[in-house]
Amino acid sequence: DKLVIGVTGGIGSGKSALTREFEKLNVIVVDADVVAREVVAVNSPVLTQVAQQFGADILLSTGELNRAKLREIVFSDEHKKQTLNAIMHPAIRNEMINQLHNAQSPYVILSAALIFENQLDKLTDKVVVVDVPETLQLERASSRDSVEQQQIQAIMASQWTRQRRNEQADYIVPNDGAIALLAEQAKNLNTKFLQLAADKLINVAN
Ligand code: ATP
Repeated sequence: DKLVIGVTGGIGSGKSALTREFEKLNVIVVDADVVAREVVAVNSPVLTQVAQQFGADILLSTGELNRAKLREIVFSDEHKKQTLNAIMHPAIRNEMINQLHNAQSPYVILSAALIFENQLDKLTDKVVVVDVPETLQLERASSRDSVEQQQIQAIMASQWTRQRRNEQADYIVPNDGAIALLAEQAKNLNTKFLQLAADKLINVAN
């Protein structure tokens, strides 16, 4: 099967910034956040299931998911959260596998904040970790989302530590400099991954 490269990193580390550079190099990127939205598109089987479970009033008049309402429902109820996850997680995982399988580039990227936490590294050959100091993570994520650093800190506490992630990395991309430096690192890694993809093809053929 095709070479799959995971891209991960904590909130605000710069996964999207890095994968944008790979997209410029014509690499297909499957983004876990995008897939999570796609599986609950209007009239999708998963959204229907969620509405059956949580009531039709989690739908907006447009038929779209009322995310704020759903978030509110599961926020204070661990059991409901688990029920939701039991519907969502397998659907997201299957759709990811589907998109990775259908990607028309020599290799494909799977980008997700929780690759290690959710054992998505079972779907990848190599994992790139985007690495920034926590202070920079806090700064960038809070200014991007216009939220208090405290809120970002709570999310960081639910993710693996910087050290633990970096220890599991096959490649570490520091992102404490300019975006131009990310572009350069993407270019170098792309050369490496194209070679790995070619090697993998040969191995399959033999
Ligand atoms: P999340 O896990 O929350 O989706 P992410 O890892 O995808 O985050 P990005 O959205 O790519 O992170 O980056 C977080 C913020 O930091 C964005 O506003 C982005 O524009 C900015 N940013 C990323 N890299 C750099 C950089 N090298 N220099 C300046 N700003 C950056």
